[in-house]
Amino acid sequence: MNDARRGLPGVDALLGSPEFGELLDAWPRSLVVTSLRRTLDGFRDELVAGDRAVAPEACEIVEATRRELVAGATPSLRHLINATGVPLHTNLGRAPLPDAARAALDAVSRGYSNLEYDLEAGSRGSRHDHCAAIIAELTGADASLVVNNNAAAVVLALNELAESREVIVSRGELVEIGETFRVAEIVAKSGARVIEVGATNRTHARDYEKAIGPETGALLKVHRSNFQQAGFVSEVSIEELTAVGRRHDVPVVHDLGSGMLPDAERAFGFPWEPNVRASLDAGADLVTFSGDKLLGGPQAGVVLGSADLVARLRRNSLLRAVRVGKLTIAALEATLRLWRDLEAARTEVPALAMIGADPVALRERAERLAGALRERCPDAEIEVAADVAEVGGGSYPGLQLETWVLRVTVPGRSERALEAACRRVQPAVVGRVRDGALCLDPRTVLPGEETEFIDSVSQAVRGDG
Ligand SMILES: *Cc1c(COP(=O)(O)O)cnc(C)c1O
Repeated sequence: MNDARRGLPGVDALLGSPEFGELLDAWPRSLVVTSLRRTLDGFRDELVAGDRAVAPEACEIVEATRRELVAGATPSLRHLINATGVPLHTNLGRAPLPDAARAALDAVSRGYSNLEYDLEAGSRGSRHDHCAAIIAELTGADASLVVNNNAAAVVLALNELAESREVIVSRGELVEIGETFRVAEIVAKSGARVIEVGATNRTHARDYEKAIGPETGALLKVHRSNFQQAGFVSEVSIEELTAVGRRHDVPVVHDLGSGMLPDAERAFGFPWEPNVRASLDAGADLVTFSGDKLLGGPQAGVVLGSADLVARLRRNSLLRAVRVGKLTIAALEATLRLWRDLEAARTEVPALAMIGADPVALRERAERLAGALRERCPDAEIEVAADVAEVGGGSYPGLQLETWVLRVTVPGRSERALEAACRRVQPAVVGRVRDGALCLDPRTVLPGEETEFIDSVSQAVRGDG
């Protein structure tokens, strides 16, 4: 042992020192001891490696132990502020839940619930019944089932309809959505063989007809959620595809992804997006979508359509592996209930409110937040500028939301350093770097987060984070 390592004080001596008194008052002794040991190990490694020449003073050890305690008390999954302007940001947890969904989570998670209990009969019930009535009311579907996510809904549906058989898909719809959902791979996981038809840019009804044979289990149509095709393109509409399916007695599955329930144009004045009602009206046998995209609820997958087929899905043993828990059911049912009144949904479902935010109001809000930040950060230059944002989460490909952002620059600090500093304060603020500035878009900052937003950003910008 060299001299420097010998210079490290012992655990007991440190715990008895006045410097540690405050930490021991604030934290349980066992946690302080564990954190102190870890801190001393770190210093010892540095001394051995020669990264440090002399042993640290007691006050430095106290500070390092305090950081270790705080780090240990910070959860891995935690709240942050989304200032990217992208309402359905998959990396940031997709849709923020409506208040009603949070209240339902609280009510159901505090104690017990009728998750699988029929209160009328006083006997066993099914978790799969809770959302069925509201989904039927909103979509007109005969039957439905809620599973872990849309990927699970697709796998379950195709496993039931086409295990060891064939699923026919257009080459133009073999899409990748996020890193882990590729249509061809998901179909293969369901146990079905993918039969690709058509060309990348054009597929016709006759392409499906030619491929149908005794081994065909289903025709699959997939919404190209995150990109658009333009130019010499044609695809088979869901109406045409269901006509083909009926002629050959093969079920049609429509993976909608985004989960817009009604006609978005008529309901909200948003651009048209494939929707659940239209797909069922067109005769799709099963439709699947996500709970946490345009529906604005928790992560979930909904599969709905023919009563016969849904009854088969309910008997498929794979369902046990992809079923949802009471928290998901509670939050999803409450979110769905908001959709009964589209005016209410528009304001009370945060994802919809953000997508539909009025640019004039967004600009005013950006100006107000910029004013508050300027007061707190005299060295920073903060201007409000027009920009565009996407909806994200695999919905509304190509739609550019008109938005207003705060452009923040500080002389002597790079925009990348500012962006990184915003990620390191508590709560973190995730923004974007664009054209030499840190850009913060208030569209996705929830109304109740404004104070935190100002506190976090000013801390990061002043460099005392
Ligand atoms: C988003 C999406 C999926 C995946 O949904 P998850 O709920 O994330 O599993 C599948 N298909 C389409 C068309 C999508 O847009």
